[in-house]
Amino acid sequence: MPNGGPDNCGTCGFNRRNRGIWRNPQPDETVTAYCELRGIHPTGDHWTYCENWHTRMRKIAGPVYKSGLYEGGYHRIPWHGDVEPELNASGTCHECRQPFDDGISIPTVEGAPAEFCSNRHYFQWWQRHHPGEEAPMSHGFL
Ligand code: SF4
Ligand SMILES: [Zn+2]
Repeated sequence: MPNGGPDNCGTCGFNRRNRGIWRNPQPDETVTAYCELRGIHPTGDHWTYCENWHTRMRKIAGPVYKSGLYEGGYHRIPWHGDVEPELNASGTCHECRQPFDDGISIPTVEGAPAEFCSNRHYFQWWQRHHPGEEAPMSHGFL
């Protein structure tokens, strides 16, 4: 089990591989991971998370998260809506303007990808683009 947490899409009953069974010991390996609640295909289902794993209710609870940069531990960073942040980016940080390797990038619809040196600086950007939204699973690195 990944150390990013056991409450991931791979063990979620809303993943169609699990047919409504949380922590299904026998997921259908012939089926691609797909969240029937949110309509997304998590690329790494064991490293993708959301609060609905815990609520088990169909009312959407907050954003989807992925395991972000390993910074002294595993941290969860929210998706930008339906857009999944990407790791292993290099460039100049959108927030602090410092050059970096092994950071985060996010494809933006309106223009060039935005790049970030750290989970925290990505999250600062996310908060400005999602006013009024909460991301409680990210609070560990704040
Ligand atoms: S996104 Fe949330 S509800 Fe969907 S499969 Fe993953 S943990 Fe479950
Ligand atoms: Zn930065």
